Amino acid sequence: MFENLTEKLQRAFKHLRGQGVLTEENIGEALREIRVALLEADVNLNVVKDLIEHIRAKAVGTEVMTALSPTEQVIKIVHDELLELLGKDTARFKFASRPPTVILMAGLQGSGKTTTSGKLAVWLKKGGHRPMLVSVDVYRPAAREQLKVVAKSTETRIYEGDTKGEAAGTALVERLAKEAKREAMIMGCDTLIVDTAGRLGIDEELMQEMERLKKLLDPQEILFVADSMTGQDAVNSAQDFHRRLSITGVVLTKMDGDARGGAALSIRHVTGQPIKFIGMGEKPDAFEPFHPDRITSRILG
Ligand code: GDP
Repeated sequence: MFENLTEKLQRAFKHLRGQGVLTEENIGEALREIRVALLEADVNLNVVKDLIEHIRAKAVGTEVMTALSPTEQVIKIVHDELLELLGKDTARFKFASRPPTVILMAGLQGSGKTTTSGKLAVWLKKGGHRPMLVSVDVYRPAAREQLKVVAKSTETRIYEGDTKGEAAGTALVERLAKEAKREAMIMGCDTLIVDTAGRLGIDEELMQEMERLKKLLDPQEILFVADSMTGQDAVNSAQDFHRRLSITGVVLTKMDGDARGGAALSIRHVTGQPIKFIGMGEKPDAFEPFHPDRITSRILG
């Protein structure tokens, strides 16, 4: 994660060594390199522009604090700006005052939605909750089957429902969703994780179905699951989903394979919604809440 960015930022900071005071000139080269490092990490262009301007404004002309060298001072400014960008505090997960809490999982096919549904169930169980899973992807029997496998391996309750003899379509999706919520209540499950249909691209039908599910289930969380390795494509689809659905947060998956970090650094600025969790592997426990401070420290090495 972030290996390339860390290395390049460290190289940029080296330009500041030996400077007594930070000036427009002596910080120029470092800022240029920071800019290139961020762009090469595939960070959104507007995000890069804002970041560089903030860093310049804070750095130039400030009295160098006696306790810090100019290099340390710029590192501190970059640290604070990255933290601001990522959201400072760890975003909270919202529970319903009257269970079950409903979590709608949204995202494109292959982003890691089904895997993440299982991971979320494991995380909830660790926190003392009783989750139930349901897949409403009636268009792909293999997807529903996959969630069954995930439920079994994570020992999580799943509502399968009866889909025999009914055409795949929104009516069936809504029936399954409604039944699952009722079943969760009956079984004393306090959280219901709804794995939804994912398409290869965003289409009108998918969006309409998600809107109907939102209305029907009144979810506390609508999590957009995004594959971090797809960089700015993930950011753009998060933005599209947010416009239509008002997502409550993002889960960034495959962070273990993302050496660049562009999606992680852009998605909150672009959508206004926080990253709530990250996935770092295929196993159910390769998942954790997103802590902006830890990630910032990691980026700065
Ligand atoms: P869905 O189509 O959105 O439901 O995606 P899946 O849950 O089926 O995941 C697609 C692929 O990505 C599978 O091979 C998963 O094992 C893999 N995957 C999901 N999350 C992660 C992750 O955090 N790290 C890695 N390395 N692979 C992941």
